[in-house]
Amino acid sequence: MRCYDIVVIGGGPAGLAAAKSAAENGCHSILLIERDTKLGGILNQCIHNGFGLSHFGEELTGPEYAFRAYEDLKSINQGSHPPVEILLDTFVMEITSRKQIYAMNKKDGYFEISAQAIILAMGCREKARGALAIPGTRPAGVMTAGLAQHYVNIDGYMVGRKVVILGSGDIGLIMARRMVLEGADVLACIEIAPQPGGLARNVTQCLEDYGIPLYLRRTVTAIHGKDRLTGITVSEVDDRYTPVPGTEKEIECDTLLLSCGLIPENELSRKAGLAIDPKTGGPFSSDVHETSIPGIFACGNVLHVHDLADNVTKEAIEAGKAAAAYVAGASSTSEQAILSPKVFPGKVIKPVGEIEKNTDPAVRQMTCIICPRGCTLTVTPGPTPVVTGNSCPRGEAYGIAEVTHPMRTLTTTIRVRLEDGSLSRISVKSKGEIPKDEIRTLAEKIHHTVINAPVSVGDEILPGVLATSAT
Ligand SMILES: Cc1cc2nc3c(=O)[nH]c(=O)nc-3n(C[C@H](O)[C@H](O)[C@H](O)COP(=O)(O)OP(=O)(O)OC[C@H]3O[C@@H](n4cnc5c(N)ncnc54)[C@H](O)[C@@H]3O)c2cc1C
Ligand code: SF4
Repeated sequence: MRCYDIVVIGGGPAGLAAAKSAAENGCHSILLIERDTKLGGILNQCIHNGFGLSHFGEELTGPEYAFRAYEDLKSINQGSHPPVEILLDTFVMEITSRKQIYAMNKKDGYFEISAQAIILAMGCREKARGALAIPGTRPAGVMTAGLAQHYVNIDGYMVGRKVVILGSGDIGLIMARRMVLEGADVLACIEIAPQPGGLARNVTQCLEDYGIPLYLRRTVTAIHGKDRLTGITVSEVDDRYTPVPGTEKEIECDTLLLSCGLIPENELSRKAGLAIDPKTGGPFSSDVHETSIPGIFACGNVLHVHDLADNVTKEAIEAGKAAAAYVAGASSTSEQAILSPKVFPGKVIKPVGEIEKNTDPAVRQMTCIICPRGCTLTVTPGPTPVVTGNSCPRGEAYGIAEVTHPMRTLTTTIRVRLEDGSLSRISVKSKGEIPKDEIRTLAEKIHHTVINAPVSVGDEILPGVLATSAT
């Protein structure tokens, strides 16, 4: 049986940062186990911008963030005895309270590992149709937004042409824009709550930019179609989220993407006997992210669902440091601290609220999309437009640009012909911002373009316009 000081389960941003932090804090026998064939976790399919502002100090796509996190880990992985060993394509099937880990892969089959400390970093999964209990038939074309994101961004499949999004969480909003850029008609985004679930900046740049209507206080009450989805029924809901009879409307569509929440992935944790917080769906944990079993730590979306990858990284660094201290002999966090109720700051980001109606038609109100804070700006056009409501100078520059020459960054994927003639797909982004009204034309052009391998991160694909993001 193999023995390690620390075993990290999950190779997303949480696992990568926790492993690096544990190594930097003096632990030199660390194993990171990932079930996928590559590291990066959910970030690999999140090809849009919006990651890394606080941790890396610049706006990155998901693949770029994952690439940087991996490069960071590799930077300490020098020498004859790299402190972090990585096992890919390996599924952890069970952990025990005595910190034994049972895993499986094609090469080694079923095997056991023991560790002095474990860091859980398994992320979360989406609520599927079963959990939402939507009545109707079970045709093809109904899937979670994250699954659609994987099909479109990683596998290169188009999941539908006439799309409705149920739920206005960030994944749904991002996928609304993504489907438009891939040539689909996105007919509506339906939200049961009186306000959108996702960030205000995503409502602006993913729905409003593309004229996609957002219907609040409504839900899908029936699904139609035998083999393929042919339409849905949408009803208004009352204050208790109960559908109101007589308000039903039919929408003809071939695809329904569900973006109705995420659930921390804690099957392993439950089996090991960790106390789970019913509010977050993740393990109860101390200030240093130690769970109710001493020596088992948790960080990232497995602990509670995070909006920002940067916050995941921050938490994982703390967990890695605490696990290294535990292995070095420091005492565990007290039981009292572990079981005390946990209060998370929730969204650090201001959700879209009821924006005060402005009565002067010349004055424009808008959400600043530059950072997740999403300040509400008021811009009075004129020879020198006046911006108020911004919390920093970047907001003023954005407000002025928005009324004079609106600009956006395009992120998408491009087909790559490999040496053996097969096609793969990599993420690309525009070199800087381009005029907003040119985004769709450029996306269409890229859609019909195939480039030849080899390509490296940062290569210019269309000189001066487009570069590879990360593979
Ligand atoms: C669609 C979407 C859009 C997002 N947009 C943004 C954004 O714009 N900006 C931003 O900052 N954040 C965004 N986020 C949030 C951010 O991506 C996540 O918070 C972050 O990736 C979570 O990191 P994690 O390491 O906890 O989990 P994950 O990235 O999910 O990684 C968990 C890893 O654990 C592995 N794993 C799970 N179980 C096992 C097992 N039993 N054995 C082995 N391996 C296992 C999984 O394969 C996975 O690789 C978005 C998230 C999603 C889903
Ligand atoms: S004004 Fe500044 S703080 Fe506010 S959203 Fe824009 S960039 Fe962020």
